[in-house]
Amino acid sequence: MFSNAEIGIDLGTANILVYSKTKGVVLNEPSVVAIDINTKQVVAVGIEAKEMVGKTPKNIVPIRPLKDGVIADYDVTAQLLKELLKKVSKKLGMSMRKPTVVVCTPSGSTTVERRAIHNAVTSYGAKLVHLIEEPVAAAIGADLPVDEPIANVVVDIGGGTSEVGIISFGGIVSCNSVRTAGDKMDEEIIQHIRKKYNILIGERTAENIKMEVGYATPTHKEKMMDIRGRDMVTGLPKTMEITSTEIYNAIKESLDQILETIRATLEECPPELSGDIVDNGIVLSGGGSLLNGMQEWLAEEISVPVHMAPNPLESVAIGTGRALKMIGKLQKAAK
Ligand code: ADP
Ligand code: MG
Repeated sequence: MFSNAEIGIDLGTANILVYSKTKGVVLNEPSVVAIDINTKQVVAVGIEAKEMVGKTPKNIVPIRPLKDGVIADYDVTAQLLKELLKKVSKKLGMSMRKPTVVVCTPSGSTTVERRAIHNAVTSYGAKLVHLIEEPVAAAIGADLPVDEPIANVVVDIGGGTSEVGIISFGGIVSCNSVRTAGDKMDEEIIQHIRKKYNILIGERTAENIKMEVGYATPTHKEKMMDIRGRDMVTGLPKTMEITSTEIYNAIKESLDQILETIRATLEECPPELSGDIVDNGIVLSGGGSLLNGMQEWLAEEISVPVHMAPNPLESVAIGTGRALKMIGKLQKAAK
């Protein structure tokens, strides 16, 4: 039995990833819990719970306890983590008792929220819990030389939040977080379809539309997509066709908010580091950065090179895992 497992956790608003020091990413599941409101029991977590969204009887409610980038519901988050960590121990074929854990926290989180994250992990029985700031984890995971005295800029667009951080010499020089990211775009798509066509669509459908025909660029080769929803007038199911141009217009406001946050952060950059940004540019991570045309659009808007992280959906998890190694080193040095 392994009593000293070491894992990194990316507690994302949309997806939770667990990284094991020895095996890499061992779990990647949606941050969703399905609860029976009559019995208060957890019915499903992760992938199974996400598949239930919008399809269950009234007493089963899917909850996203981390939706806005902070722990809104502490108990549910603790249960979600516990169930997911159980899955991890099964997969790794070893006990996860008393693991050493590195968890990333959103850069805008308050002391109270950090404590809540710390407690949720400790309640699972972790021996040691280290918190690392999300932009730092994302930058490490994206292979940026964060320890050097140069500006490393990372933009992480997730589900609930977008974070922009400038990291130099191992620490955050400046960073900003906004509660506008992938989820907000999904909501804007739902609103648009409802207002324009009187048709109700679910969150999953909206997310699929965004991934398939959502664009960050106004000019692109137009695409069409058949979608299904419920006609609000007749109450009956209906299929209809939408275009990528109208979806672009629907999500434009979110895109602009993300752009403003990036601009504001770059403006806060000390002048000595600005030169690095002109040369090295910025790195995109997070699922939201996979939106069609995102890289090209940002490069044009901010006039510096824009690169994609090697694995945008896993950067933060990989970064927490690499941070584990650094912590191991530090502990050895201290002995
Ligand atoms: P978090 O770190 O907040 O959990 P993630 O980095 O896992 O978030 O990203 C989740 C978001 O990325 C969701 O809003 C999802 O819809 C979006 N996303 C994932 N893949 C794509 C894609 N190919 N195109 C556009 N958005 C995407
Ligand atoms: Mg994330």
